[in-house]
Amino acid sequence: MNQSAAKRGAGDVMLEARGMSKRFGDHTVLQDINLSIQRSEVVCLIGPSGSGKSTLLRSLAFLENYDDGEVFVEGELLGYDRASDGRRVRSRPSRLSDVRRNMGMVFQQFNLWPHLSVLENVMEALLRVRGMKRDDAHRLALATLEKVGLAEKAGAWPNRLSGGQQQRVAIARSLAMSPAIMLFDEPTSALDPELVGEVLQVMRQLAEEGMTMVVVTHEMGFAARVADRVLFLDQGHIVEQGPPTRLFRHPQSPRLAQFLGNYL
Ligand code: ADP
Ligand code: MG
Repeated sequence: MNQSAAKRGAGDVMLEARGMSKRFGDHTVLQDINLSIQRSEVVCLIGPSGSGKSTLLRSLAFLENYDDGEVFVEGELLGYDRASDGRRVRSRPSRLSDVRRNMGMVFQQFNLWPHLSVLENVMEALLRVRGMKRDDAHRLALATLEKVGLAEKAGAWPNRLSGGQQQRVAIARSLAMSPAIMLFDEPTSALDPELVGEVLQVMRQLAEEGMTMVVVTHEMGFAARVADRVLFLDQGHIVEQGPPTRLFRHPQSPRLAQFLGNYL
């Protein structure tokens, strides 16, 4: 078990979804999702393929327009607001992009810039988005690469790195922006099995340092050891949630039991 109960502050909520629903045409992909994530909490999202995990993550990051419900970031309603006549209106884009800057996203595909060195990949957003001075960006990027164990690769081209190293660069790139929360969507699913561990190790270290994290993953061992809470999503519903020990050892719903059975 990690020490997050102790490291956590007075239970303040970082991110909250209330009654979130999302349809693609007449296919309901998320159905009445209620979810709140505390500061420094690590939440793992598990569920079968197509259950809506990526859509939920993307909706929480305002990368996806949901149809119903509200998202609150540190208590502030964002995404959609109610106009005075009751209509739903989109939040100001400038406000949304401010909030998005505080969210780091890491995807299955690393999407590093192939024409930039590892260091320049990490510096890019610091220069362009944060408007940092080159020297400062350089220093911060190097320190962040150090954190993920890749300082010695600073000058390398991304395509010379293993998949695990590339994903660690992608994590460093997000991390350098000092996000308040990190969202991971199957960060190890594209990796050869022997490269998964080094990426999970970096994520585990982040969790232990108190980063607030939402992680979509099929790595049940990681979820069991690192998550404070595991959410099981099926057909757009949160079917079950709780501490990993309870969820994994005593699943209440047949669907979760069956899902976990596939990993044994
Ligand atoms: P998961 O990440 O759990 O595999 P997704 O969130 O990617 O699930 O997808 C949930 C459902 O939404 C799936 O049935 C998928 O086919 C559908 N879906 C996802 N994105 C789109 C889209 N852009 N247009 C139409 N359907 C989509
Ligand atoms: Mg997905």
